[in-house]
Amino acid sequence: MAGSQEQVAVNINGDGSTAASRETFRQAVVNTLERRLFYIPSFKIYRGVAGLYDYGPPGCAVKSNVLAFWRQHFVLEENMLEVDCPCVTPEIVLKASGHVDKFTDLMVKDEKTGTCYRADHLLKDYCKDKLEKDLTLSAEKAAELRHVLAVLDDLSAEELGAKLKEYGITAPDTKNPISDPYPFNLMFQTSIGPSGMSPGYMRPETAQGIFVNFKDLYYYNGNKLPFAAAQIGQAFRNEISPRQGLLRVREFTLAEIEHFVDPDDKSHPKFVDVAMLEFLMFPRNEQMAGESAIPMILGEAVSQGIVNNETLGYFIGRVYLFLTQLGIDKDRLRFRQHLPNEMAHYAADCWDAEIECSYGWIECVGIADRSAYDLGAHSEKSGVPLVAHEKFSEPREVEKLVIVPSKKELGLAFKGNQRMVVEALEAMSEKEALEMKASLESKGEMDFHVCTLGKAVSITKDMVSISMEKKKEHQRVFTPSVIEPSFGVGRIIYCLFEHSFYTRPGKSEDEQLNVFRFPPLVAPIKCTVFPLIKAQKFEDVAKIIAKSLTAAGISHIIDITGTSIGKRYARTDEIGVPFAVTVDSTSSVTIRERDSKEQIRISIDEVATVVKEVTDGQSTWADILWRYPTHSASHVEDE
Ligand code: AMP
Repeated sequence: MAGSQEQVAVNINGDGSTAASRETFRQAVVNTLERRLFYIPSFKIYRGVAGLYDYGPPGCAVKSNVLAFWRQHFVLEENMLEVDCPCVTPEIVLKASGHVDKFTDLMVKDEKTGTCYRADHLLKDYCKDKLEKDLTLSAEKAAELRHVLAVLDDLSAEELGAKLKEYGITAPDTKNPISDPYPFNLMFQTSIGPSGMSPGYMRPETAQGIFVNFKDLYYYNGNKLPFAAAQIGQAFRNEISPRQGLLRVREFTLAEIEHFVDPDDKSHPKFVDVAMLEFLMFPRNEQMAGESAIPMILGEAVSQGIVNNETLGYFIGRVYLFLTQLGIDKDRLRFRQHLPNEMAHYAADCWDAEIECSYGWIECVGIADRSAYDLGAHSEKSGVPLVAHEKFSEPREVEKLVIVPSKKELGLAFKGNQRMVVEALEAMSEKEALEMKASLESKGEMDFHVCTLGKAVSITKDMVSISMEKKKEHQRVFTPSVIEPSFGVGRIIYCLFEHSFYTRPGKSEDEQLNVFRFPPLVAPIKCTVFPLIKAQKFEDVAKIIAKSLTAAGISHIIDITGTSIGKRYARTDEIGVPFAVTVDSTSSVTIRERDSKEQIRISIDEVATVVKEVTDGQSTWADILWRYPTHSASHVEDE
């Protein structure tokens, strides 16, 4: 269960872009984002802290729009039960979930300076660098390096160490030798209360808060399956080497869904709604064969068993719709299946929504069928059964294994160890128990390994009775499976920034103007209001329009600075405002659309209704153009 790792596109530069052009593009985006305060390195006046960022005003607005759409698209659509749990989590919870023991990334140290690096990152950087820059590379070697990149997430500590040695990789900053890779736990540790006796951690994911509440949520849902719970909140991971801006940070917002379902029935009634969607999928076989992602129809991927079940498929489809409606380019979005070793042993299947940006293919949403693992682990640790019930209409006769240890005999034989032996006997699987029964019947005794004692003990016939009995059952009790879509909100937003950004020529020859073509849904501000010139009568009209926009719930700003209208348009294009209202008369005004720069003329009292119609998605700009006269005011644009 390592911290997530972005996969690198195996066909590096397959899209024709070069590392240099990607870097230039990224610089242009990042400069605009930082200059316009979409985000700010946290604690900047104290030189900042790696991996911590603040969202500034337009960034905050984009994030809140993305989350509002997430709630609408998932929570509202599926009647999910939303919860909000604390970030500080007691150790026992994360011990049960496996995070205390296994939430690690492999780290290497510069042997002289002690600087730490993520081992897989060093190997990845080496391979990418060679593939991009080494012109003497043979086809064979290139294929090998591509293969290493494709299976990077799959490598064990030993395999990773061996590759680092084989390629002679040293510490990037000093070229000093590096240590062998070793695991580093990514959780921030803390203690709860003043005594220091109660260890805790900042949660590395929000999911555990949902699992530990399963019993109450199931009851709240009328003891019915399936149902889903959802949570949006901060997650904390002490990343070894945070880099790539918002993509790998130490505190970030997660939006997670835990969909609880009967393990014997993972069909989904609404799967038909997404079955016909076609998009890029990257199944395991294609990855292993060094091929690329392929367009697939979701329904076929499920019916052919490439995607494990309908519910998992349903969420893959819904995630596709969510991301593309936000403005993610569908041609730079793919669903990649986890390789066998990359997946936790208990997981039935796992797909990542990966978005391509200037850093390569980035895992932005993980969609996993985690089977019954999480609920099972918390049931065992807490002693509270986190189970569901299926009531039978008619009682059913079933054969059940009954193991009855004789506490008296076991006590006499094992004294203080009696409890451990009893527990081990009761925990036997059906197969083990039937083997013991046969052995006790034929030989009268049997050696039995008790894990908690770390040794085998001799069990005799009088110590345990094992039988298969017919019983009438009125219900089935089972641990539900969990299907978990987990969204890294910051990663999605950063990719959205890149996919929305473009430049267009300005007034002067060498001037380039930056634009974010955010769909109205995510735009930080929906509308600006510009009095064309500084005049009281225009400002009064602007105020009337602003009032009507506020009443309609549309975020807007009035810009009464006397600067040219062209400059004012450019300034708001740069933060992605889709509509600009220019007040150039007291009866009617123009509305300009950001990307086409087309303008319509409209009466003042209609402005809010029209802007709302388009920002709410009830009409498109093209619909509006049909209804209103276009305004040939290109002089305004150039002023
Ligand atoms: P995981 O639980 O590792 O599958 O992570 C869930 C999601 O969180 C991933 O799909 C990423 O989008 C996001 N994520 C994981 N680690 C980070 C990080 N260090 N910074 C930002 N987002 C992250």
